[in-house]
Amino acid sequence: MKKYNFNAGPSILPREVIEQTAAACLDFENSGLSLMEISHRAKNFQPVVDEAEALFKELLDIPEGYKVLFLGGGASLEFCMVPYNFLEKKAAYLNTGVWATKAMKEAKLFGEVVEIASSKDKNFTYIPKDYVIPTDADYLHITSNNTIYGTELREDIDSPIPLIADMSSDILSRPIDVSKYAMIYGGAQKNLSMAGVTFVIVKEDALGKVSRQIPTMLDYRTHVKKGSMFNTPPVVPIYSALMNLRYIKAHGGVKAMEKLAKQRAEIVYGEIDRNKLFVGTAEESSRSLMNLTFVLKPEYQDLQDDFLAFATSKGMVGVKGHRDVGGFRASCYNAMSIEGCEALVACMKEFEAQH
Ligand SMILES: *Cc1c(COP(=O)(O)O)cnc(C)c1O
Repeated sequence: MKKYNFNAGPSILPREVIEQTAAACLDFENSGLSLMEISHRAKNFQPVVDEAEALFKELLDIPEGYKVLFLGGGASLEFCMVPYNFLEKKAAYLNTGVWATKAMKEAKLFGEVVEIASSKDKNFTYIPKDYVIPTDADYLHITSNNTIYGTELREDIDSPIPLIADMSSDILSRPIDVSKYAMIYGGAQKNLSMAGVTFVIVKEDALGKVSRQIPTMLDYRTHVKKGSMFNTPPVVPIYSALMNLRYIKAHGGVKAMEKLAKQRAEIVYGEIDRNKLFVGTAEESSRSLMNLTFVLKPEYQDLQDDFLAFATSKGMVGVKGHRDVGGFRASCYNAMSIEGCEALVACMKEFEAQH
């Protein structure tokens, strides 16, 4: 049976990206050696990092003065590196969920943290719109897509202070105006690559403004200077990221990815709104195009396990919602096909007909 991968992360990647990466693990560019056993300083590996950076810049139209880095540690290490490198006295955070809260927790170790708004009052089902950005803060941190709650801030906001965004789960799903950000970062395992690498897009002249000493590995300047090669980088995840960046380019770039994301969302949200059994959890204006969350209506709550079992029997993988939200979550990253969304909808319709 065909499986449709709706996992939230690590998550679906284009089949050809997986095949190309697997092939390179067996024999890297006809060298007779595996990608897993060559030096990151080998002559044929440097072009992998160079092309991945160049394609990132091309696909997101990244202006001059920014550097793309491939690091270890996941988005979670960035929660600490961001304040280490940018927080002198005070930082502002928009609290839109668990990840934002974790980022704030780390920042508090380095200085004052102002929560400018929070949607915790309604279990993070919306993106707050009324807030004032303190102009005396060192930066504003946002989470553009809230993977757990299925909410997304799908615009590049104007900030009077340096703007830093965790885009772990919606990077490369739409065009972004990078010039509005001092830094964008994320773990790769949602929409870029396999787990193991973290991407960072950083404005070079935004660095070096704090007075504290920063340990070498946690100082972005180290990695800018060494082109992500200060220490051994995660070569296989970087290679699969490159294969995916090539795939995105060959399939029309981020504009085409956005168009597909909107088509997928229309199909799935359309059914969530139509089906008598289900209801979406996120406020409509905050709905994510990447993680589509829904629950059973109160009167059908006892069907929770039945629907999961039914969906699984039809080849749907990973549709169980996060424990903080319950219900279901269909993560529809770039590689999710329209066919996959239609299969999910068919499954929801069939289940409805049985009840
Ligand atoms: C998954 C996720 C993280 C955590 O990423 P790690 O790479 O596992 O540290 C952080 N932020 C968001 C928005 C995420 O979806």
